[in-house]
Amino acid sequence: MSEKFVATIALAGNPNAGKTTLFNALTGARQHVGNYPGITVEKKEGYVDAKQGLTRVVDLPGTYSLTAYSQEELVARDFLVRERPQGVINVLDATSLERNLYLTVQFLELGIPVTLALNMVDALEAKGMRIDSDRLAALMNVPVVRTVARSGTGVRDTLAAALDHPQKSWQPLHISYGPDLDPVLQKMTELIAERKFKTETYPPRWLALKFLESDLVVRQLFETDAELHRRMLVMADEVARHCEKTLKTQPEFIIADYRYGYISSILRQGVLTVMPDLQDRADLSDRIDSVLTHQVAGPVIMLGILYGLFSVTFSIGQVPMEWVESFFAWLASVASGLPGGLARSLVVDGIIAGVGGVLGFVPLILIMFLGITFLEDSGYMARMAYMLDRVFRSFGLHGSSVVPFIVSGGIPGGCAVPGVMAARTLRSPKEKLATLLTAPYMVCGAKVPVFILLSAAFFPGHGARVMFLITLGGWAAALVVARLLRSSVIRGPSTPFVMELPPYRMPTALGLVLHTWERGWQYIKKAGTVILAISILIWAMMTFPALSPELAAPLESQIEEFEARLAVEPQEEIRLALENDIAELNLRLNEETLSNSLAGRLGRSIEGITSWAGFDWRTNIALIGGIAAKEVIVSTLATAHSLSDGEEQNFSSRIATAAGWNTSVAVSLMIFVLLYSPCFVTVVAIAREASWGWAVFSVFFNTGFAYAMAVAAYQLGMRMGW
Ligand code: GDP
Ligand code: MG
Repeated sequence: MSEKFVATIALAGNPNAGKTTLFNALTGARQHVGNYPGITVEKKEGYVDAKQGLTRVVDLPGTYSLTAYSQEELVARDFLVRERPQGVINVLDATSLERNLYLTVQFLELGIPVTLALNMVDALEAKGMRIDSDRLAALMNVPVVRTVARSGTGVRDTLAAALDHPQKSWQPLHISYGPDLDPVLQKMTELIAERKFKTETYPPRWLALKFLESDLVVRQLFETDAELHRRMLVMADEVARHCEKTLKTQPEFIIADYRYGYISSILRQGVLTVMPDLQDRADLSDRIDSVLTHQVAGPVIMLGILYGLFSVTFSIGQVPMEWVESFFAWLASVASGLPGGLARSLVVDGIIAGVGGVLGFVPLILIMFLGITFLEDSGYMARMAYMLDRVFRSFGLHGSSVVPFIVSGGIPGGCAVPGVMAARTLRSPKEKLATLLTAPYMVCGAKVPVFILLSAAFFPGHGARVMFLITLGGWAAALVVARLLRSSVIRGPSTPFVMELPPYRMPTALGLVLHTWERGWQYIKKAGTVILAISILIWAMMTFPALSPELAAPLESQIEEFEARLAVEPQEEIRLALENDIAELNLRLNEETLSNSLAGRLGRSIEGITSWAGFDWRTNIALIGGIAAKEVIVSTLATAHSLSDGEEQNFSSRIATAAGWNTSVAVSLMIFVLLYSPCFVTVVAIAREASWGWAVFSVFFNTGFAYAMAVAAYQLGMRMGW
């Protein structure tokens, strides 16, 4: 379709602002879809008969910014500077004007002739807000047209405005970036203008600004002029060092701050009016925020809220958790009455123990999710992200990483599966990846029983303190590893914090229930599907191959002999001794069976490596099972230490005195369980959010890292004589 046209008009804007809807409304059937050369970004073109003549319209990919963070941004930027369309219709989602105008300011700084399509005004008015489009046009000095792209309202007027707004030369907008950056920007701009470097394509000040923003593409551009490049680098490095020293930040963040400042100064001049009751809510939000995001009080309150959530979850969660547990204990005792050795063992030891162990955590998880949902729906979570952004940024993460971390178990008891899914809100792929890979270090609900068991055995009376330290350890590991990854395998710039702080609102009961249920249901589904399958698999691995008759026979015959004697023994003391012996022999039989089973052999075969961390073959079995699902670690350990049914309560006292166990082993094991491979379902979730390559990476990297830390802890502990 190559028709003769008089002008090209590009449609640009944030994703979901309504560009494609507007494009379709304009061009109808006269459009075609292709790709930009060499990449998968979609290119849409169409034609419209306008008063001025046939006009070509191009629907650019949606972007939030014009930096070089993504292919979409590069495509949009290149199209604009290379093809220099006669006009650009910047489609804005009027309901989030502040974020949308961030891109507009960048267009204006490039000097692009922009016409604003103030789209979705219907949705805005439904929210009880008004926009004074004339005032916005006057303040920004560009045409503004109100549109409802979905119904076609204002669409033709927008095109007409864009075509009526011809501009022979681009006139870039000039905004101040404050006392630190303005002088160096000025010097750079003069230098570029003096040397006439690419000035026919880009405004000199824009090049200087992008250079300061560390835009990789622009910096590469300068490499063609070595002398200029060198001088620019010297200036950029000097101001970056200065900002780091005096403001603890980097020029690109200062630039983002000033752009937002510019936008909010415009919006505050009566562009947006809110209906009175909504205005009250906004004012109230501002007042609440002056306390909750206060520099000093804010973080203190945040810790208090998190701690409150933590203690409420555990104190309230205890009760229903016991109900669920006793229900499964009852079920197991009923099932023990079933006939048939193997089948009964499968049902009792495999299915009921495995699935029951997981479902036992459901009440805890639901309460926990209820709390998190409350924080999210009320608007407080966004404030946490905002407050933590500075800290997180220095570790290569983003303020929005806080939600995935907390959901994964940043407050013990979460689950990494919904945590990993919560990372979707992160826009930069690199920050998202770093979050995905480190969120599994948090203390998810399935790891909790391991820590409780080991601290009861080796640090009796200090359970809460141990749990607190482990939680801190999880956070520390996540931040440090994120930093490590972001300066090696996933290196790249950080993205400025672009997240609006919504007004506070009281969450509705229905919303809370629905959101909590969505998260909880994912966990329950996991118990019913993956964990059921894995429990059966592990049970089979721990049962087969059966002990050979030659090995089993002596023990079995001895048990029979003692039982026969017990049946006729009148004396109480001897009866007790006999009963003890029988129990002892049964345990030995179980242990022999396990040791001979597939799982036992596997556990033994890696004992040589794991003994460095203090783990024997029994622990190995439990840990291997834990890769499938962390929930099975404790129950597998119990079975491997040949405990009979109902004895799990005494497990911690047994393990405290068992051969091969001491405090060093316990510490090493806790560290390993905290850090090693994410469970199977989490790995699948990571693959879905990133790729299978990264999912496999997380299995091996985390296990290697956990092993190194566990060996260090164990060796150190042994030297210290723990
Ligand atoms: P794009 O990502 O910018 O191309 O956005 P789309 O054109 O795909 O639109 C995103 C969503 O916004 C779609 O669900 C549209 O139906 C909806 N939408 C577009 N324009 C309007 C509008 O003027 N009012 C309302 N309420 N919705 C709109
Ligand atoms: Mg689109």
